[in-house]
Amino acid sequence: MQTVTEISALRERLGDSRPIAFVPTMGNLHAGHIDLVRVAREAVGKNGIVVVSIFVNRLQFGPAEDFASYPRTLDADLAQCDAAGVDIVFAPSEVELFPTPQTLSVEPSQIQHVLDGAMRPGHFRGVATIVLKLLNIVQPAVAVFGKKDFQQCLVISELVEQLNLPIRLLLAETIRDADGLALSSRNGYLSADERREASRLNRVLRVVVEALQGGRRDFIALEDEAMAQLSRHGWQVDYVSVRRGKDLAAANPTDAGLVVLAAARLGKTRLIDNLEVTLDAPSA
Ligand code: AMP
Repeated sequence: MQTVTEISALRERLGDSRPIAFVPTMGNLHAGHIDLVRVAREAVGKNGIVVVSIFVNRLQFGPAEDFASYPRTLDADLAQCDAAGVDIVFAPSEVELFPTPQTLSVEPSQIQHVLDGAMRPGHFRGVATIVLKLLNIVQPAVAVFGKKDFQQCLVISELVEQLNLPIRLLLAETIRDADGLALSSRNGYLSADERREASRLNRVLRVVVEALQGGRRDFIALEDEAMAQLSRHGWQVDYVSVRRGKDLAAANPTDAGLVVLAAARLGKTRLIDNLEVTLDAPSA
């Protein structure tokens, strides 16, 4: 495995090697990231090149968010990538990616303004901008993202589609701890007590999914029940929302492909999760 910090060195190393599968990350890697590496390797085979980027992207953090304290664990990340069979880690400095201030940005459509976008203004603009930069630098055939960040997957799908990027997107399933908590670099912020409580986020989503599968379509009541359940246990809830999976529009009782998304804070740690659910078409 090679670690490369400069764009020119990466381009030189990649040369004409193809196909390339790319996994962008902000580091502090866990088994969820490593599963994306597995998906990337499967997509390009043993003769392909798997590139992982590690870069904490300032553009996607709000002024009051955790950019400064975000965990940076490069040595451990490199060891995990090596063990997972990654060919190249691209770990640029900020100056390498932003030699001048990033004044040009990618403006995703309306989807950037709902749910997490409403809570984190500018977040998805920052994500789309860095992802387009990284895709232009690495020029992969395949790029892998995790459905843990469901809204991000839709923003990136839109980016690839509307800007005609010659890239096959693969969206990987969420990897969870045994108690259901989605793995996240931010889980490390949780105290022992908060970590025990954290699995409730996934449990309340499962309750909503089971209610939908049981035939309930009173979405607002379902969301309110889930949010109340979290609040009762000390969470500060940003949202629990039942949406149409393909575009996050408000769910309709006749929709078959739905997703239940949640974001909530335990102490100072903000966690997100989601579950997709496919419902039987209503009988005529
Ligand atoms: P991050 O380092 O948080 O920017 O995440 C990098 C990539 O890993 C994104 O595509 C995430 O959606 C994905 N990812 C993060 N957590 C998980 C998880 N628990 N399971 C699967 N993919 C994940």
